[in-house]
Amino acid sequence: MMKLLPEAPLPWSQARKRRHFLLASALLLFAPVALAEQIYPGYTWQDLGGGLYVHARVDPLAGPVDGNSTVIVNPEDVFVVDTHINPAAARAVIAKIRQITDKPVTHVVNTHWHDDHTNGNHAYRQAFPEAKIVAHRATLDSLEQEWQAMEDQREEAYRRVAGRDVLAAAEAVQAEDPERAMGLRLFAGYRDALEPELPTMELVYPDLLFDDQLTFTRGARTIVVSWLGRANTDGDALVWLPEEKVLVTGDVLVAPVPFAYDSPMDDWVDTLGRVAELGAETIVPGHGAVQRDARYLEQVGRLLAATVSAVREAGEAGVAYADLDGAVELGELERLFTDGDPLRAYAWRTYFVTPGLKSAWTSLGYPVPEED
Ligand SMILES: [Zn+2]
Repeated sequence: MMKLLPEAPLPWSQARKRRHFLLASALLLFAPVALAEQIYPGYTWQDLGGGLYVHARVDPLAGPVDGNSTVIVNPEDVFVVDTHINPAAARAVIAKIRQITDKPVTHVVNTHWHDDHTNGNHAYRQAFPEAKIVAHRATLDSLEQEWQAMEDQREEAYRRVAGRDVLAAAEAVQAEDPERAMGLRLFAGYRDALEPELPTMELVYPDLLFDDQLTFTRGARTIVVSWLGRANTDGDALVWLPEEKVLVTGDVLVAPVPFAYDSPMDDWVDTLGRVAELGAETIVPGHGAVQRDARYLEQVGRLLAATVSAVREAGEAGVAYADLDGAVELGELERLFTDGDPLRAYAWRTYFVTPGLKSAWTSLGYPVPEED
């Protein structure tokens, strides 16, 4: 069932309007608030105060979909959490760090193995050769097994088409298949950002591994890098600042729509419950807007639990995998997450429902036919 795009406004202008409204409300409620600064096109550099900064996509669902990068400036050194899909954006963050402090980056945490959190590792290794790349042991395993194949696929896909042809193709299918057109525009965004980077793209693997927890003390600040269970991936690292009650979640939490590629969904529900118990007051998600309360986290918790239980019910009722999509009804939650926005609706289907139903199905022990 295909939803047609409304005549107007376009998704990005709609998103921008909402942001202006939110920004205006923030200025009224919490003045003075520094206006978001731009250090790389399409991203915002946000000062959270206390030496904490976040570099994030202006529109978290526009191509390339890229993870947030968090910078933690300590009394003697700097920690960075996640390094972007686009090495050029990582280099912009490095240049900005050098503007605000002469302290070196000593630790770069990869919250998980996906390339939108690890591609910039190389830029950090070049700029700060002494810096440790920190990750959960399962993240290193996945990087060793999956990263190169993923980048080879990317190179192959970009070699086959020119960017302008992708946009022309999007134009051509817009009327009869707007969802496909949206996918093509996203692809063009990836291609524009990453194609120039491919010749020098190289992964630097994590070299400081942990299983449960690493704790760093930096003056009055404590930085806890921990694993609370499998969630979005097998090795999700959380970065928790207990004094400031700031939590950087990686893709355990993604806004405005969660991503569920190959995620162990049943474990994720439990892990997210443990994450909520930390009592964070500021949550930097893996993608999307910084959260100032736990409402969005709870909303995602409800969604994951509802998805797993709906898939479980379908499985117990003997529904075949091919009919799972039609059997699982997430109507109210779908409205909550997509909010009538076509790009969010695309993300809902493509990044959450399709991979999430499959992940939930397999994580409950049901078989998926080969061709899927
Ligand atoms: Zn991500």
